[in-house]
Amino acid sequence: MGVALPMLRDVLRSVQLERVSPRLVRLSITDRCDMACVYCRPVRDDAYLPASERLGVDGWETVLRGLQAEGVRRVRITGGEPLLHRDVLALVRRVASLGVEDLALTTNASRLASLAVPLREAGLRRLTVSLDSLDPDVFASITRGGDLAEVLRGVDAARAAGFDELKLNTVVLRGLNDGELPAITRWAWGLGITPRFIEVMGVGEGGRIWRERLVSRDEMRSRLDGLVVDGDGVRDDDRGPARYVEAADGSGRRVGFITGSTDTYCARCDRLRVTSDGNLRPCLATPDGVSIADAVRRDDAGAVREALREAWDRKPDAAWRGCTEDSARAVSMRGTGG
Ligand code: SAM
Repeated sequence: MGVALPMLRDVLRSVQLERVSPRLVRLSITDRCDMACVYCRPVRDDAYLPASERLGVDGWETVLRGLQAEGVRRVRITGGEPLLHRDVLALVRRVASLGVEDLALTTNASRLASLAVPLREAGLRRLTVSLDSLDPDVFASITRGGDLAEVLRGVDAARAAGFDELKLNTVVLRGLNDGELPAITRWAWGLGITPRFIEVMGVGEGGRIWRERLVSRDEMRSRLDGLVVDGDGVRDDDRGPARYVEAADGSGRRVGFITGSTDTYCARCDRLRVTSDGNLRPCLATPDGVSIADAVRRDDAGAVREALREAWDRKPDAAWRGCTEDSARAVSMRGTGG
């Protein structure tokens, strides 16, 4: 490597660090999940962390107080499957009481039918449901045994609960669900839900299949010809990497695309993740992290804040190629929080 490349990386890094500060945190409150999506984990019974290592509600409060002191304002609860956490309602209530600007949760919806109203009452504002197919057999095969009917009951309950916003995450997989994009879009729009189509990424188990299964954003767009307008779409401020295009019928409905594989958007990344055992993860594409488990045990929000600075310093520079980097294969999406 010549001299120019390291210099260029330094410049890009300083530009990046000037532009973004930590705003958004994703809390992976459990690494447990009741599905085993083919792009996420290899089998249904791969090992979980010991329950004793998982942070409790008080621990998460310490984490958030430290992160808020450093500027974090928006919180998304994820996992694993966050609705498997036995204290999820108490946790949502506690986070809501800390006065964050936004509180959202991502779920596979298997337990949403009974939890949607309590979650809303606990203070959850926005909800994203992951659903990759409207065909029960395809759904079961992508999720390795998931029950579509149960998920659809969860979606109905979420609509009735009156969240500020409902979104859908669909990971698009060549040869499995890539023929369903128009049907999923019409279905979601009909329910007042914004669909988002996600390029499969080479994170963890995804590393095994992403090259063969990837459907690029451009190809997804062409499959929605006539349903959405042309153009690259726009990002919502402070709302992550999705770019949204509008419906062609002028109704104002939208479709989002998340391009973790063809356009990795690292330069503007302001996210931070915390794993269920208290590890601050500055980048989804590397297992690198800073442990805050001891700080949490001591209820030391100041030390959490310090750790966040250290983790932020470790954020890869703008030359980083995100989840297409080889290091992404060593990351468990389920553990890190997608
Ligand atoms: N269990 C919850 C759920 O299913 O929404 C939350 C955790 S899940 C890891 C969060 C999101 O990450 C889901 O929408 C999932 O589809 C997405 N995801 C997981 N692995 C992925 C991969 N390799 N590429 C793209 N998206 C992935």
